[in-house]
Amino acid sequence: MPAEFPDFRLGTVLATSFTATLTERRGDPVERIPTPQRLADWLAVSGLAVTSCTTAQLELARELRESIHAAATAAASGEALPEAAVRVINDRSGAGRAAAILTPAGERHWRLNGVEDALGVIAADAIAILAGERDGRLARCASPTCRAAFFDTSQSRTRRWCDMNTCGNRQKKARFHANQRRSGGSG
Ligand SMILES: [Zn+2]
Repeated sequence: MPAEFPDFRLGTVLATSFTATLTERRGDPVERIPTPQRLADWLAVSGLAVTSCTTAQLELARELRESIHAAATAAASGEALPEAAVRVINDRSGAGRAAAILTPAGERHWRLNGVEDALGVIAADAIAILAGERDGRLARCASPTCRAAFFDTSQSRTRRWCDMNTCGNRQKKARFHANQRRSGGSG
């Protein structure tokens, strides 16, 4: 039996999907890439499959993840980007040697030789968002135990939660119970 690991919270934006491999940062944090194999699994489901992953590469990945989180959080709050985070993002972007490949079906694939190349793609994605090149808005999740930075591409740009199925749902339930208490429901 394989050990049970927390499932992934996959979003549509690569860089913030990656930062969501650590959730509940303000509550009881859940590490969703606890082992090198889980990082490899995450990369595979994110279109960045690699053949192997070491502990040192997992550490590089987590360093990049926290740097993207720090930079995105600052940007979402209108603050200056932390220098150390910018340096890590640039280092990982510079170290990547991924090649974008156009398939005959008109899809983009990545040709990768290892985890460093995959991290380069993620770093470049973060740079595009932080540089304002993508249509959307960096925001922070309204859940007090989460506060994750996410990229809001909704038409109205008023998305409040990083993930509707988890943070959004929990918040709605909390509000429902609060309303019941106020209206004298026995619960
Ligand atoms: Zn959230």
